[in-house]
Amino acid sequence: MHEPRSPRRDFLKGSLAGIGAIAALGGGTVRAIAQASSQTNQEQHMPFTLPALPYPENALEPSIDALTMNIHRTKHHQAYVDNLNKALEGHADLQGKSIEELCAGVATLPDAIKGAVRNNGGGHYNHSLFWVLMAPKGQGGAPSAELTAAINKAFGSMDDFKAKLADAGMKRFGSGWSWLIKKPDGSLEIVSTPNQDNPLMKGLVDTLGTPLLGVDVWEHAYYLKYQNRRADYLKSWWDVVNWNEVNARFASAK
Ligand code: MN
Repeated sequence: MHEPRSPRRDFLKGSLAGIGAIAALGGGTVRAIAQASSQTNQEQHMPFTLPALPYPENALEPSIDALTMNIHRTKHHQAYVDNLNKALEGHADLQGKSIEELCAGVATLPDAIKGAVRNNGGGHYNHSLFWVLMAPKGQGGAPSAELTAAINKAFGSMDDFKAKLADAGMKRFGSGWSWLIKKPDGSLEIVSTPNQDNPLMKGLVDTLGTPLLGVDVWEHAYYLKYQNRRADYLKSWWDVVNWNEVNARFASAK
């Protein structure tokens, strides 16, 4: 996919224009958002900032209510951003890295900041991706023929895939994520990670790969509307999956 490395600030403004931007930008969206933030605030030594939401907070209703979207992004995600910036204070070399690079290399960081970057860098990457992996119902497109073929090969059918991704989310005890990843050999796999870990984190997760789709199963992602009913949240979430973005990530993932 073509990623708008420059002008990044224009992309950020453009992303506010509407959901069409997501489909057009494809797999580079998260990187573009993260680096737009990076450039904007480098002078203050706050390399990462909260990305703009590419749709209104109420656009995912009824699957995800506006209040949950607001608190999830402006409180939880913002805290990950703030704590990541704090952890990187005084580490100019790390401040210049992309969020993907930080996640991939987190196991090699000094012990003093490893845990903070793992939790908060992971949180920033995971949530930046999560927002663009969703779109208002009816606007997320459908799985491409290529992605459908790969899913059928790996999981039997689209329905089986959906059931397995949801099952991985249900079986995640406590907090974490359920992911569809493309592994280095090109095959697809479903994995689950605890807390804010993700499949980019070398040495910390069992299976590495590029996240194509991920769903947040922390209680903060659904509790206001669904309370304890994680299964209902996961079922309704499929209505707001942005397949256009998943297709693009599948096509561009190495
Ligand atoms: Mn979350």
